[in-house]
This record gives sequence, C-alpha cells and structure tokens, in this order.
Amino acid sequence: MENIKAFIFDLDGTVYLGDDLIEGARETLRWVRSKGVQVRFVTNNPRFSRDFYANKLNNLGIDASVEEIVTSANVTAIYLKNEEAYGNIYPIGEAQLEKELKNAGVPLTDKQPDTVVVSFDTALDYEKLMIAYHALRKGANFLATNPDTVCPTPDGGLIDAGAIIAALEASTNRKVEEVIGKPSSLLAKMILKDLKLQSEQCIVVGDRLNTDIKLAKQVGMKGVWINTHHEELPKDLVHEPDYIIRSIKDLPSLFSDSKKVNKSF
Ligand SMILES: [Mg+2]
Repeated sequence: MENIKAFIFDLDGTVYLGDDLIEGARETLRWVRSKGVQVRFVTNNPRFSRDFYANKLNNLGIDASVEEIVTSANVTAIYLKNEEAYGNIYPIGEAQLEKELKNAGVPLTDKQPDTVVVSFDTALDYEKLMIAYHALRKGANFLATNPDTVCPTPDGGLIDAGAIIAALEASTNRKVEEVIGKPSSLLAKMILKDLKLQSEQCIVVGDRLNTDIKLAKQVGMKGVWINTHHEELPKDLVHEPDYIIRSIKDLPSLFSDSKKVNKSF
C-alpha cells in the first residue's frame, strides 16, 4: 500500500449500479480517502458532464470533485484540442459531446470534415451516418469516444458507440483508427500525466476485464477485478488482473494484510 498513490475507479457496476449505490462503496471510498491518495472516477459514457457525475456521487454520499471525474467525451475533447492535425471535426454524438468539443475550442463542421468522431448517440439518424460515411470514403480520420457496443441499463441496454463504429466500418470498409475511452493506452497515459504519477503507483478498480483491467495492464498499472458474477477467467486472457474480489466492499481487506494478497483472495 505504501507505493500506491492513486485509485482509479470504474463507476457503473463498481461504485453504483444504475441509480443505486453498491453495498460497501461509501465505506470503501472513505477508507481510500483516509489513505490520502489521489482518486479518479472513469466512465466511458460520453452523454453526461463531469459535474453530473460528481453530483451523482455526492448525492449517493460519496465525496468526489469535478476534477476527479473522467468521461470519454471530456478526454476526447482534451485530446483533439492538443492534436490540431485532426482539423475540422464531425461528431456523431449528443449535445454533451458537442459542448465539450466547443468548450475545448475544437472546430466542428458537417461539411467536408477532416475527422469523424463516433460516439454514443441516442438521437442517431440516417443523415448523420451518411455525412460520416461520405467523409470516411473521402479519407477523413476515423476516431471514436468509446468502444462499447451496448450500454447496460436495467431494461437490457442501449445501442452504444461500438455498434455505430461497426456500421461505418462495414459500409466504408475501413477500421476505426483511435478509440479514446477505456481501455485505450492513450487514456491511461492521459490519466497518469494528470495524476503526475508512474503507472506502478496506480491501481484501477473495475468490473470489466476487457475495459478496466486492460486499461490498467497495458501501461503497467495494477488491476483489481470486481468479479460480481463469479465468472471464470477466460483461458485466452491477455491482460490478467492482479487481484480479484467479489465487491468494492472487499477492497480495504485486500490491503489489510499484505501476506494475504494474492489472486485467490
Ligand atoms: Mg463497469
């Protein structure tokens, strides 16, 4: 624990499920705060602002400041602001993404864009797809905020950015070039830079192997997998978690006796 200077938490499925706090999350976050380490909360959902997530956590009784929230829309805006070579951007996404891009000073257009950015868009229509399709056929850069194909909801999920990427890949015979959200190493490096820490000083805690744990392991951070549904580790897994627990409430006990820390915990 002495070497750990930051905890990076996934939100949905880790800290809360939909609108309900997960049992023990408040106590675990209080324990994390008592260690005096930095904290980040990272979500791939680009539809809501960092203020929204900070408020949501505060209303659930968890301390969180806006600066500690990382959303895929916000990091995409920061990334594009610093990479001017992407030129004029056409975003497929909702008002929040557009707002983040505008606030960052990223130039937007629906006429001959240099770059298409695909995102989670519940107001997607044929016209938006066609603007992106024509731009990609003419060689525009092909980026996305997040890779998730479905956003989990109590009703069975919402079609997410990954499925819109797939439609454009199928119709243009191209492949998306950069996906900014989890599990990209680009995002991991942006978080490390913001924390001003080395990867071995950070722990990612999340319930998805292919997003949260992969985010951690590809840059050398530690990964704690919350295996809520008692799943087996896939045999062909490339990025193995360092620790496996059943719930966020078990996190403090992982560190209470270092001799006990192992994968069969
Ligand atoms: Mg999750």
